[in-house]
Parts: sequence; structure tokens; C-alpha cells
Amino acid sequence: MSKIRTDHDTTTEASSDFGHIVEATPSGVFHPTFPADIVTLIRFSLSQPTPFAVAPRGKGHSSQGQALAPGGIVVDMQALGDGRRTNHRVAVLFDEMYVDAGGEQLWINVLHAALEHGLTPCVWTDYLRITVGGTLSNAGIGGQAFRHGPQISNVHELDVVTGTGEMITCSPEVNPALFFAVLGGLGQFGVITRARIRLERAPKRVKWVRLAYSDVHSFTTDQELLISKRTSGSGFDYVEGQVQLNRTLTEGHKSSSFFSASDLARLTGLTVETGSVTIYYIEGAMYYDEDTAASVDQKLEALLEELSFVTGFVFVRDASYVEFLDRVGREEQNLRSAGAWDVPHPWLNLFVPRSRIVDFDAGVFKGILRDANPVGLILIYPMNKDKWDDRMTAVTPEEDVFYAVGLLRSAVGRGEGDLEQLERENAAVLEFCDRAGIGCKQYLPHHASLDGWRRHFGAKWGRVAELKARYDPRAILSPGQGIFPPATAAASVEPSAAGAHTASS
Ligand SMILES: Cc1cc2nc3c(=O)[nH]c(=O)nc-3n(C[C@H](O)[C@H](O)[C@H](O)COP(=O)(O)OP(=O)(O)OC[C@H]3O[C@@H](n4cnc5c(N)ncnc54)[C@H](O)[C@@H]3O)c2cc1C
Repeated sequence: MSKIRTDHDTTTEASSDFGHIVEATPSGVFHPTFPADIVTLIRFSLSQPTPFAVAPRGKGHSSQGQALAPGGIVVDMQALGDGRRTNHRVAVLFDEMYVDAGGEQLWINVLHAALEHGLTPCVWTDYLRITVGGTLSNAGIGGQAFRHGPQISNVHELDVVTGTGEMITCSPEVNPALFFAVLGGLGQFGVITRARIRLERAPKRVKWVRLAYSDVHSFTTDQELLISKRTSGSGFDYVEGQVQLNRTLTEGHKSSSFFSASDLARLTGLTVETGSVTIYYIEGAMYYDEDTAASVDQKLEALLEELSFVTGFVFVRDASYVEFLDRVGREEQNLRSAGAWDVPHPWLNLFVPRSRIVDFDAGVFKGILRDANPVGLILIYPMNKDKWDDRMTAVTPEEDVFYAVGLLRSAVGRGEGDLEQLERENAAVLEFCDRAGIGCKQYLPHHASLDGWRRHFGAKWGRVAELKARYDPRAILSPGQGIFPPATAAASVEPSAAGAHTASS
């Protein structure tokens, strides 16, 4: 049976993504059974007078069409794992403390497979229904990254199908150029079909904490204290943060399920009392298990004493490790029932150098977004640059500490004008950063021009271009990123032809 489907429903589904902003229809969608099928597809493309584009698609949770292939072939990576919860494409090696996971695997599947052995990956994204290959092509950041680095810093080995149609195993020791290129490589050098990911012992439970602040200086000082070596071991195992603009957290259906009704009433009181347009929250998590259950409250108490949140504004919940990690999965269910999940998401993520975060706060939260009443979340939390390996393609600002700032807003229920308004605000934020010389970098980047990409990669640009010429010289891979102009043609693939070429093992 052919592995390429060209029917309207299938190509329409692969024409859009979580962002619902960009649309581009592929000629077909390829459903590989084995990684070798992807080798065959790429070689088939290269055998054409003008090759067609090939875009691996994890879950299509990008915001700007990064996994689309206009006129080309989208590879439905999920077909490899067959979408099952645990399967033959996730193997945990207890003694070696790693998991071999297919690039198509959802992180939630990796979590459950590892937990069966009492183990867990060290670093998590906030949402677990995204794929190993998708996050490793970006970085994979979350509240554990300050200690362990991003997910791309926790990989031992990869299997990659390059844009030249070769299947190559790579690691820091073997084929290191390809290994580091692919990590944060935006899908430009190859398709990740397997990743060997570091594991550690899994905790059982979590003290999940939010602390409220009315001023940015105490908030950032405490966040930076929490990610410093001074508290590691005695501090939080996870540190993130949020900014609430104009009571957006305490009003409306977007309210987080973390807070009870009485918590929300108190927080509303705080906003009124301080007259502040911005309230900040540190979100922390302290892991524990049977051995440490007796001492965790004391440890938490001691840590809280070091911090300067608004007196009394500490909120603690006790959760299982899985309940904590899968928190956005529950939000997804709530948003889906409210019809607020499949809406445009003009998300903008930035890495802002520590030395300029207060300027960013003044210019963006208290300036451009001052009167905004956004639906969605604004995340802000610091990370340590020494946990990132500069040989990887991912880019960060120059400073030792930088903040991830996520303007994760949804255009809900106010028509197209809402999306345009949010996009205008995003453009104003980028322009402000440029003008003020903030020196930030986009995460999950989107640049409309080659010049934008050159500036994004900075000193790494020459190397990126060289690696592209080596591993994907015809520029067929992940054209939706818009970095290298494709010399590709629309795929005119007879389904039966591609199917006949497809390897079965
Ligand atoms: C609700 C939500 C919460 C999120 N939270 C976080 C977070 O906390 N931290 C964080 O870092 N990110 C977060 N993300 C962003 C997420 O990491 C990206 O969307 C990422 O692209 C993963 O999505 P995906 O697996 O669906 O990949 P896709 O969107 O399908 O693909 C992303 C890019 O990678 C390429 N690609 C996909 N699979 C492979 C592969 N196997 N090999 C090579 N290239 C490949 C694609 O061609 C595309 O260019 C979040 C996204 C959502 C929707």
C-alpha cells in the first residue's frame, strides 16, 4: 500500500498548525512505517530533476508554519510510533540511565515509559503532547532548565536521516558536527528518528508553589537567587514565573486552575491595593518522595524565608509528579471544552539578557502592553547560559543569565481584528527591543528575511550555512522555517511510485 496520501482531508490537515496563522498545502502526506522509509522518500525527492520539499511534522504544534511543506511532502512522524501510548519505539535502559525514544514520540509517552522503571528525563517543556524530534529541533525549555540545561543539553546520541538521504548515528564523539547541528537545528539538517535521552531517578511528589510580587525588582532578584548555585540542592527543582497584566489571571475563563476562588479574590485585592498593572508570580516546585516526605515542609519553609514576595501571598499545592508535569494537558482539556484551543496563537518567545530585563519590563509590560487584556499567558523565567553548549545550533543572548519571556496569547472571539492587534503588538515589542538595543533572541524563531536570520544566528551564521550545504545541499528539509530558499519543485508524486520505493525494514 502506498505511504503517501494525497486526499483532500489529509493534505488539509497538514496545511496548518497550532498557530492557525499560516496555511500552505502540501502535495501529499507521507506515512512512514520505519525510519528507512524516510531515507527512501528523501532519495526519491533527490532523484527528481528538481527535488520536492520534505517537512517532518511532529504534532504540528508550531505557531508560524514551521512544519508545513508548500507543494512538497509532509512526513507524518506520528505514523512511526503508531500513536500508541507506550510502544516498541521507547526503550528504557535502567542501568545506563537513558531512554531511546523515536523522534515522533510524545514526551508524555516518554514520561510514562521511564516512570515504569522509577526514572524520568530531567528537563520538561510545560506541555507534554509535543514530540521529541520537534522540541530537540528547537531546544525544549522549562522550569528545570536552569539546573540541567534545555532538553538539547540532555541528549547522548541521535539517529538522523540527512537531507542527502543518509541515515547517520551521531553523538558528541561520533559525527559530532551533525549531532550539534541538529540540536536546535530547526529541522534544517536532518530528520531525527531516535534520540537517546538522559534519565535520573524520578521523584514521587511535588510541592507546587506560587509566590506573588508587586514589584519587578524583588521578583527578578528572587528568581535569580533561585536559579543560582547558592540554593541548588536546597532550593526549588523547577523555577518559572508569570506576569499578570490588568488582572488577566484573576478574571475570565483563562484563569489558571491552580488558584482557588478565595486565592483569586485575595489576588484581586492585591492588584487593587497596589494599583499595579503588573503582578508577578514565581512558580516553583520542590520534589520529594518517601525518604524526604518528613523534611520537605521544613525545607520549603527555610527557602521561603530567603525570599521577598508580598507577605502572606504564598500558595502551595501538593501534587503527584505526573499531575504536576502534565498540568497543561489539563488546561488543554478546559480550553478545548471552552472552544478556546483551536484558535489563532500569535505566540512570541524571546530570550532577554538579564541586564535588560527591567528595561524590557518597563518598555513592554508597562509600556506597549499597558492597556492590554490578553487571553493567554505571559511567562518569564531565567536560565543559566553555562548549561547550554555553544556548539549546538540553538542561539541564546551573550550574558550568563537570560530570561525566557513567552507572550503566549490567543486571538479568541473578537474576530480577525484581534489577531491583527496581537500581531501589531508583537511587532511593536520586537521594534522596541531593536531600538533599545535589548540584545534579545527569538526562541521558536520566525524571521521574514534572510537578513533577519543572519542577525538571529549572529556569529553562528557562517557555520549554519556551511552545515546546510553539507547535510541538505538542495535545501529540501523543513522549508516552513523560511531560512534557506528552497530550490524545490511541487511534488508530482504518483502515490504508487513512492509506495513502491518504500522500504519495509
Ligand atoms: C501548548 C504548548 C506549550 C508549549 N510549551 C513549550 C515549552 O514549555 N517549552 C518549549 O521549549 N516549547 C514549548 N512549546 C513549543 C514546542 O516545543 C514547539 O511547538 C515544537 O515545535 C514542538 O512541537 P511539535 O513536536 O508538534 O513539532 P512540529 O511543530 O511538528 O515541528 C517543529 C519543527 O521541527 C521540525 N521537526 C519536527 N519533527 C522533527 C524531527 N523528528 N526531526 C527533525 N525536525 C523535526 C518540523 O519540520 C518543524 O520545522 C509549546 C507548544 C505548545 C503548543
